[in-house]
Amino acid sequence: MISLRPQPHTGVSPDDCRHLSLPPFSRLSRLSLPNLSHNRPSPRLLIRAIDAAQPFDYESHLSQRFTKSTKLKIAIVGFGNFGQFLAKTIVNQGHTVLAHSRSDYSEIAAQLKVSFFKDADDLCEQHPDVILLCTSIISTEFVLRSLPLQRLKRNTLFVDVLSVKEFPKSLFLQILPQDFDILCTHPMFGPESGKESWKGLSFVYDKVRIGNVEGRELRCERFLDIFKNEGCRMVGMSCTEHDRHAAESQFITHTMGRVLEKLNLDSTPINTKGYETLLNLVENTASDSFDLYYGLFMYNKNAMEQLERLDLAFESLKTELFGHLHDVLRKQLFGKAEEGVERPVDRILLPELPQNGRLLSIHSENANKEGS
Ligand code: NAP
Repeated sequence: MISLRPQPHTGVSPDDCRHLSLPPFSRLSRLSLPNLSHNRPSPRLLIRAIDAAQPFDYESHLSQRFTKSTKLKIAIVGFGNFGQFLAKTIVNQGHTVLAHSRSDYSEIAAQLKVSFFKDADDLCEQHPDVILLCTSIISTEFVLRSLPLQRLKRNTLFVDVLSVKEFPKSLFLQILPQDFDILCTHPMFGPESGKESWKGLSFVYDKVRIGNVEGRELRCERFLDIFKNEGCRMVGMSCTEHDRHAAESQFITHTMGRVLEKLNLDSTPINTKGYETLLNLVENTASDSFDLYYGLFMYNKNAMEQLERLDLAFESLKTELFGHLHDVLRKQLFGKAEEGVERPVDRILLPELPQNGRLLSIHSENANKEGS
């Protein structure tokens, strides 16, 4: 049942085994270690790859354990805004939830019926079925590299909920031992948009690496069931495709929300439906951390192109507007000259026309006189 695939090059030498009190080299080299041949591994990386504590029939045990009604033990790493939001629903569905974070969330965790572990070693020693990474995009690599992976079960399922997908997929494949399963997900909603219900909200997932063993597949399905049970629209999609769509939709949405936030828009006594939508957009996007927004930009290779397109679209709209204005002015000027009649009303002064695409100010002589 156990898969001990020979690795062409693990980066571990017989000397490493002697100095670090590791199992004999002949045995170690048959374990499924990540390929570290390009970079000599640190002692910590070596140690985390050893999993001698697991019984050899562990995978057959897994397939018996995970049935349709199995409750999972899920460890949330990164227990901030979104981690806590997910925890509420996961606990409500009867799963056991553990948590670990940089900050101490013991009190909040207790209120949510979550066991909080200040120490990552203690968390991993609980041998959760699933590690659910809810860290900020920009801290994910650091957090993942500092987890004591050697304390986990050999077949732990790693899941992330980052709002970008190619980046965590590549990190997981690079850092996690071969025997760990990988599920990359993105719930397309947050504490604001999903506060009433998750019904009909999209949940994107990519089964990047799920061991071809019944227990491991079932464990992944049980995890996905959490979102299915809440009525989410389940969307299987590759990480690459997700990032392309997300840059066009989510990044643009967040950018517009943040631009509007800078305008300090206030509710008025005569709000239109459209204006209400804008106010809601600001509320939905501005409540997310700037780290999150920065992560959407920095860690999605398609985001820069979208930012440039937005810039161009705004410039093009201004050009179109000012072009119309110019036409009106010309008609007024030349029309008046032809008629030989000068109208004092609404005479617009030419020197203050838009310059270099920027409208400095436009005065109507008449308006100035009337002080309006
Ligand atoms: P966030 O600002 O993106 O992430 C906050 C989390 O990251 C907290 O748990 C925080 O830990 C941790 N963190 C930040 N810097 C850290 C560092 N240097 N070292 C260790 N931990 C660090 O806000 P969020 O809204 O909670 O989002 C979490 C994840 O969910 C993100 O990857 C985001 O893309 C994804 N997501 C969010 C939403 C949403 O609507 N909010 C929706 C879908 C997916 P401490 O709190 O302990 O400091």
